[in-house]
Amino acid sequence: MADFPRSLHEFQRRFPDPAACAAYLSTARWPDGFVCPACGHAKAWQLETKAWTYECAACHRQTSVTAGTIMHGSKLALSAWFWAAYLMATHSNGISALQLQQQLGLGSYKTAWLLCAKLRRAMVAPNRALLSGLVEVDETEIVCRSKDDPLTGGGGRSHQGKMPVAGAVEVQGRGPGRIRLIAINDYAAKTLHAVIKDHIASGATVKTDGWAGYPGAPDVNHEPHVIGPMAAHLVLPWTHRVFSNLKTWALGVYHGLRRKHLQAYLDEFVFRFNRRRTRHAAFRSLLGIGLALTPATYHMLIAPEARA
Ligand SMILES: [Zn+2]
Repeated sequence: MADFPRSLHEFQRRFPDPAACAAYLSTARWPDGFVCPACGHAKAWQLETKAWTYECAACHRQTSVTAGTIMHGSKLALSAWFWAAYLMATHSNGISALQLQQQLGLGSYKTAWLLCAKLRRAMVAPNRALLSGLVEVDETEIVCRSKDDPLTGGGGRSHQGKMPVAGAVEVQGRGPGRIRLIAINDYAAKTLHAVIKDHIASGATVKTDGWAGYPGAPDVNHEPHVIGPMAAHLVLPWTHRVFSNLKTWALGVYHGLRRKHLQAYLDEFVFRFNRRRTRHAAFRSLLGIGLALTPATYHMLIAPEARA
């Protein structure tokens, strides 16, 4: 799988039609040739009446190459799924439903929106590992967009029109490791402690700006840096960088985020950030391909995902 396409042009040449996508899925699932998931028999016929489905020669169980993936049972062509996942995984800013509709020539905005929503739902790995080592933790506010008007909020100290977000960034040497972004209701100690408990491994060292909400968090070492607001970017450079990129992205791609979908969008940003060096794995996990693999190869391929 090392020969993953490096450009959209290459990608479209590699997956020109649904058959090429089905062949890829088949190889991903059975790298050494078909094996019946029911009886282990290695011989099967490909059905002509059912797309991308094999029937075991021994027990006659039918197995689709899309079983266990996000594409299973979908009326959309496999190539549309592949291209959408590729764009979403590799485009450094992601892609909106409207852009996707235009790029892929999809019939309706609704189809594109549902496709995006399904791919986005695959962005949080259920077994992802907690952040560990040295972890910066900070909080920020994102300006939100209400249903009708383009942007609300702005000045003032009220949280109305703004949504508080907690962020955590692993510090690995001179750069950031993995991140988490969590929509929160307030900055109370109880809220922030819950964020730390849910996302950071016990024994980690949590570095904060010294806000009163952090001390006393269970099972982590706390490294507070009491500072004025102007110097926060010096003490917590990576959370500040991530927050800044998040805000630019939210405005650029979505023209502001909506409160209702905030966590889903944060998950999307985190997904792409954490896989910035493993776009191929990102593509596969969006389509749920890893989940459909046989146990022998499953662990090998899912391993980088489990860390992200
Ligand atoms: Zn069988």
